[in-house]
Amino acid sequence: MTTAAWPLIFDGHNDVILELYRPQPGKERDFFHPSPHGHLDLPRARVGGFGGGFFAVYVPPPTSSPTVDRLPEPPYHLPLPPALDPTYALRTTLAMAARLFRIEAESQGALRVCRTAGDIADCLANNIIAAIFHIEGAEAIGPDLDELEVLYQAGLRSLGPVWSRPNIFGYGVPFAFPASPDIGPGLTEAGKALVKACNRLRIMIDLSHLNEAGFWDVARLSDAPLVATHSNAHAICPSSRNLTDRQLDAIRDSGGMVGLNFGVTFLRPDGKRDATMPLSVMVQQISYLVERLGIDHVGFGSDFDGALIPKEIGDVRGLPRLLQALTDAGFTSAEIRKLAYENWLRVLRLTWGE
Ligand SMILES: [Zn+2]
Repeated sequence: MTTAAWPLIFDGHNDVILELYRPQPGKERDFFHPSPHGHLDLPRARVGGFGGGFFAVYVPPPTSSPTVDRLPEPPYHLPLPPALDPTYALRTTLAMAARLFRIEAESQGALRVCRTAGDIADCLANNIIAAIFHIEGAEAIGPDLDELEVLYQAGLRSLGPVWSRPNIFGYGVPFAFPASPDIGPGLTEAGKALVKACNRLRIMIDLSHLNEAGFWDVARLSDAPLVATHSNAHAICPSSRNLTDRQLDAIRDSGGMVGLNFGVTFLRPDGKRDATMPLSVMVQQISYLVERLGIDHVGFGSDFDGALIPKEIGDVRGLPRLLQALTDAGFTSAEIRKLAYENWLRVLRLTWGE
């Protein structure tokens, strides 16, 4: 079967902007040329049937590499990385967002930064990569939320209040395995105000990386469907980054969704940093999420360029292999379409008020 037989995939999370902004030494890339490094660029997206997704602005620490690059073998229980200086965070957030807008400008129409679900549907129908400007960790935003208003006007449509570190809004979940996500306190007063402001502006709130107390604060306060863009089932892989059955039930009841994270440490039952794992583990995770949430509430959230992913996927070009594995496991073509992009469009329409 050829790639053309599969629906395009709209994906919940990638970190390619980080790799372009701060490449690992010797692994410099640009978005328009295929690279032997990392997971995602325009030519490889075309081969893999990647139709677009959430392009994360994640502010790296000023000196070292992100914690997730250094996850040890389980069991582990890492402390939260230190908070960022807000001035540095704002400058870096703007610089990284500028990368995304320059890619759009230089793409000659091949990539568009989408501000509505209608935009995304239009891009998917016309083979234009649909990018959502997403921020993972709101360190650039001050307590008066002025930056949020300006970032929204610039195109911000999705925000994770925290990455796995503390900020003025709350506390991320520390990386730990095996561990409950119930580590640390909930949202601060500023965090609660941020949730209300996101509701008013109709910015999607991403629950991946929030600890469980923060999750329940958002669940109580937000009037939007609950969404975790790149997290998996804790019942299968007991990482602190994954969602308990109770959390999954709340997401289902809100009409929200979960995007499957392809990171092996969040997929594997043993949590090992070992990419030689069968696709059946991804199918098992998807099947569990679908059983718990329903077929309308599950999608993909690859974490391309942000995580160690299974060798059988390799990079974005491996997406059809996942769709084939799901088909082989009995998912119908209508169900595959929901997982591939329809569910993301449905939730974004609801969240953005279309
Ligand atoms: Zn992440």
